[in-house]
Amino acid sequence: MAKVIHQKDKCIGCGTCVAVCPGFWHMGDDGKASLKDAKDVGEGKFELEIEDIGCNKEAAASCPVQIITIE
Ligand code: SF4
Repeated sequence: MAKVIHQKDKCIGCGTCVAVCPGFWHMGDDGKASLKDAKDVGEGKFELEIEDIGCNKEAAASCPVQIITIE
């Protein structure tokens, strides 16, 4: 089991994560990326637990402000 963590409040809305991993990410009406089905854990942070991280690895590696992490 892995956890993908998005520090959404620091998202600059560049869209890279959506481009490299559209199965998990989409752009929200607020101009920030959103991790689909992720849980709001407070302080601007969202978490999603998944079996297979799939393309989230590429999303984390390509985020210019490094706010996507995988545990
Ligand atoms: S790559 Fe990072 S900064 Fe760009 S939209 Fe995704 S989470 Fe936001």
